[in-house]
Amino acid sequence: MPNLNDSVGILKGVGERREKAFLRNGIATVEDLLCFFPKDYRSGVIYPVSSQRCGQFSGFSLTVESAPGVVSMPGGRRFLRYLAKDEAGHPVHILHMNQPYLKRTIFKGDHFFYFGVLQEKNGKFYLFSPERMKTPPDPDKLRPVYPTLSGIPSKLTEKLVAQCLVSSLPAIRETLPEFLLSHFKLMGRARAIFSLHAPASEEVLKQAKRRFLFEELFSFRVRSLIFSNHIKTCLVPGFQNCNPEDFLTTLPFSPTAAQRRVIREIQKDLESDTLIHPMNRLIQGDVGCGKTVVAATAAYFAVQNKKSCLVMAPTEILANQHFAAFSKLFSPLGVPVFLLTGSTPKGKREKIFQETTKDLPYILIGTHALTEESAKCRNVSLAITDEQHRFGVRHRNLLGEKGGAVHSLVMSATPIPRSLAMFLFSEGNISLIDQLPPGRQVVDTLYVGEDKMPRIYSFLQERIREGQQVYIVCPLIENEEGESPLHSAAQEFSQVQKALPGVSVSLLHGRMKSEEKSRVMADFERGEIQVLVSTTVIEVGVDVPNATVMVIRSAERFGLSQLHQLRGRVGRGKEKSYCILVSSHSGKNARERLKKLCDCHDGMEIAKFDLENRGPGEFFGTRQTGFSSLPSFDRFSMDLVQEAARAAEYFLEKATEEELAPYAQKTRLN
Ligand code: ADP
Ligand code: MG
Repeated sequence: MPNLNDSVGILKGVGERREKAFLRNGIATVEDLLCFFPKDYRSGVIYPVSSQRCGQFSGFSLTVESAPGVVSMPGGRRFLRYLAKDEAGHPVHILHMNQPYLKRTIFKGDHFFYFGVLQEKNGKFYLFSPERMKTPPDPDKLRPVYPTLSGIPSKLTEKLVAQCLVSSLPAIRETLPEFLLSHFKLMGRARAIFSLHAPASEEVLKQAKRRFLFEELFSFRVRSLIFSNHIKTCLVPGFQNCNPEDFLTTLPFSPTAAQRRVIREIQKDLESDTLIHPMNRLIQGDVGCGKTVVAATAAYFAVQNKKSCLVMAPTEILANQHFAAFSKLFSPLGVPVFLLTGSTPKGKREKIFQETTKDLPYILIGTHALTEESAKCRNVSLAITDEQHRFGVRHRNLLGEKGGAVHSLVMSATPIPRSLAMFLFSEGNISLIDQLPPGRQVVDTLYVGEDKMPRIYSFLQERIREGQQVYIVCPLIENEEGESPLHSAAQEFSQVQKALPGVSVSLLHGRMKSEEKSRVMADFERGEIQVLVSTTVIEVGVDVPNATVMVIRSAERFGLSQLHQLRGRVGRGKEKSYCILVSSHSGKNARERLKKLCDCHDGMEIAKFDLENRGPGEFFGTRQTGFSSLPSFDRFSMDLVQEAARAAEYFLEKATEEELAPYAQKTRLN
C-alpha cells in the first residue's frame, strides 16, 4: 500500500523517466498525484445522431459505412476520413486527424462506440478524432479526463490514480476544521478527493468541487484578513517631500487627469513627517491607460526621499520591458536601474547585490523570484508589483528587509468589477485610472468562422508586406486526443509556415525555457520575426507598436477579459490595427460573448459582462499564482465567493491558535 509521501516512482508503470516527467510538472508524491484533478468528465451515455447534441461531448453507436480513405491537406497534414451511420441511418463524417495509420484497423461494416464532440457544418455532422471502442462503457459512470502533462499521456495518469486511490484514502488528512465543515455543509477532504477522481454521480461531483473551490477562496480570504490585521500593526517612515512635477515634465507627454488623480492618491498615502501605516494600494485600469508611468512616479517619490524601490513582474519578458521603461525614465536622473531575473548570470547577480547593499537609492526590477532575495536589498521602502491578468497571492510581496513592512503598489492589468475587487483586495485601497490617453485608436475587432482562415492568411500577407507584424494566439500548445476541433499553437505554427512562405514565423509557449522565450520575444521586438504564434504567454503587458494584427484561434475558449487583454497588444502604434476572433463554435452563449467584444472596447464593461456570464473564475489565477488549478475553476458563482468570505470571518473568530497557524505561516509574516 503506497504512503502519501512516497514518490510516484513506486507506482507500477512509472519508471525513472516518467518519475522525472511528473516532477517537472510539480507532482512528486502520491499525494500530489491524488491532488491532480481531472479537467473534465465524460459520461458513457449513447445518443442518437438526431439528438444533434452539437458542441457537447457525447457518445454514439455507429456502423462504418464507407471504406476509410486517407486525405492530405495543403499543410502536409494527413487524416483518415469515412462515413458512419447510427441505427436510424443518420450519417456522421468521421475524421481522425494525423492518424492515417488507423486505416489498418477500421473497415467497412465495423461497429464502434464513438465519443467526441459532434459538430455541424452546412447540415452535415462531423466527429473529429473521436475516441473509439468496441464495447460500450458503463453509461452511469462519469469517466475522468486528466490534463495531458508534458511527457505523460492522460490515460497513464488515469491508470496510476486508479492504482492508488482507494488504498490511500484512509491516510488523507482533513485540512478544514470540523466546525466549518458542518456549518457550511462541506464534503470531507478524503471523500472529495475520491469523488473528483471517481464521482458516483453528477451531484456528488458538484459537492466535491464545491468543497475545493470553497477551500481555495476561504484560505485566500483568511490570509488576506490576517495580513490586513498585520498591516494595521506596522509603522514605517513616511516620505517627507513628494513632488512629482519635475519628474512629470521629463515625460514626452502630459499625464491624463486620471493619472494625475491616482498620483495624488499615492502621494497622500506616502507623504508624512511621522511614522505611518504602509501604503497598500492597487491601481486598476484598462490596457494602455498608462499605469507604468504612475508607478514610476511612486518610485520617483522614493528616490526623492533617498529610498530604493523594487519592481516585480510576473514574467521575464515583462521584467525586461519594465527594465527598458524605467531605465529610460531614471537613468537621466542618475538613478541606477538594475535587472534581475532567472537568466541573470551569477557574476552579474553578485555585482548587483554589491550595489543594492549601499545606501544610495536604486531601482531593482525582476521577476517575482526577486522577493526571495529581497533580504540582500537595503534601503528599500517601496515594492511595485505588476500582476498578471489574474490575481494571485500577493501578500508576501510586501515584506521588505528583515521581514519589515514596505509601501506597496500593485498594478492590475484587467479592470475587476467592484464586488469582486472587494473580495480580492479588501486589505488595501483601490485607485482606478478610468481614462485612456488621448488619440488612442480603437482596434477593429472581427469575429469570423474557421472557414475564413485562407482569407485571413492573405490579409496577413498584405500587412506583412507593408512591414507590419502579427500575433496569432492559440488555446493549446499541442493537441490532445479527442480534442482536435481546438487549434493548437504547434499545429498553427506549421500551417502558417505553409500558408505564408518566405515569412519569418516563430513559436512561443509556456513550456519553452525562459532564455528561449526572451530570445524569441526580443527578435519579435526587433522586427526579425514577422508572425509570432503563441499561447497566452504574451497576454500581459507586451509592447510592440509595430504589431498591428492579433488573430485568436478557438476564441470561444478564452474569457472576454482575457481576449480584451490580448487585443490590447495591438493598436499601440500609428497604423490601423485589427483583432480577428476565429471561432466556429456553434453555442449561442459563445457567439454572444464574442460579438460583445466586437462592439465593446471598455475593459470595465467587458469585465462586468464576463462576471455575469461566466462567473468570477476568470479573475482568479492558476496554481502558479497561488490558486490551485481546479478543473472547473471558471464555473462558480459570486455566492460561493461571498460564502467563503463569511466563513473566513467566522473562522477568525472561532479558530484556535493551532487551527490558525497554517494560514499565518502561509502568509509569511514571520
Ligand atoms: P498599461 O496601463 O497597460 O500598463 P502602459 O503604462 O504600458 O499601459 O502605457 C501604454 C503606453 O501609453 C506607453 O507607451 C506609455 O508611454 C503611453 N502613455 C502613458 N500615459 C500616457 C499619456 N498620458 N499620454 C500619452 N501616452 C501615454
Ligand atoms: Mg502594463
